[in-house]
Amino acid sequence: SASAGDKPRGAAVSGKPHRRVRYRVISMFELNGQTAIVTGAATGIGEAIARRLAAAGATIAVADLNLPDATTVAGSLNDRSFAVECDVSRRDSIERAVESVLSKTGQIDILVNNAGIAGRAAPIWEQTEEDWNRAIAINLTGVFHFCRLVAPHMLKRKYGRIVHIASIAGKEGNPNMVPYSASKAAVIALTKSLGKEVATSGICVNAVSPAVIHTKILDQLTPAQVAYMTERIPMRRTGTPEEVAAVVHFLASPDCSFVTGQCYDASGGRATY
Ligand code: NAP
Repeated sequence: SASAGDKPRGAAVSGKPHRRVRYRVISMFELNGQTAIVTGAATGIGEAIARRLAAAGATIAVADLNLPDATTVAGSLNDRSFAVECDVSRRDSIERAVESVLSKTGQIDILVNNAGIAGRAAPIWEQTEEDWNRAIAINLTGVFHFCRLVAPHMLKRKYGRIVHIASIAGKEGNPNMVPYSASKAAVIALTKSLGKEVATSGICVNAVSPAVIHTKILDQLTPAQVAYMTERIPMRRTGTPEEVAAVVHFLASPDCSFVTGQCYDASGGRATY
């Protein structure tokens, strides 16, 4: 943990020292006493993130459509963590989830917007308006609502870490995944925009863009689509949910204090920027 001490940690625009910190112990991204909401945490990448943040000491609100699985995951984390039913495509459901977490813990230090769908793998002329609206509702509008509801709470406490799970598809644009790619590109832009809005308020907002990670989301795609995406990974392999969770852990921690509005790739080197 860090405390007031001798070394200045950067200077404000005025030239005055911003914060003085002396490290007593290497913190290893400790999250004791913190509450994190992780959406879509009943399985896959979200579950791995929930496990990693819980192991660092956080209380996890496992927010998912699938309440039975969310309850099982929450029960296996620590005795403080709990499940919250939440459909991220519905504003009322997100409102209820945020209220329920605040009524249980009184605080939200970390918000990880992870829930998402790949949607249908098909060329644009075969995608329906319904396909488009569903991908946008779950992958983008849900992120918007969660942020607009949680940000005021974090602003009041002058502390918060928001992490979005975007995708390499949002940077590179995968063929046959127009709604998905567009929704994830928008999440990256949301990250940069919101990061700047709250930059002086103790809140850091960042995104992580995974390439192909072995989870059940891949069942939504054809084997040819998965092969196309995997072949483009320089490391020549798929990633694991735990490899994404490792990046999220830093971005969700107090140690991430001068990094905001960024998109980190967990992609085996795929994106060129
Ligand atoms: P996953 O295994 O399919 O898990 C997604 C979780 O989100 C599931 O528990 C799912 O519940 C839940 N969910 C779906 N729709 C929801 C909704 N409307 N409200 C609340 N929860 C909902 O997917 P994943 O691979 O872990 O993906 C997690 C995130 O990583 C997504 O945003 C995805 O786009 C992103 N990502 C994944 C990959 C990859 O290759 N896996 C690559 C890049 C980015 P149900 O099981 O009930 O549907």
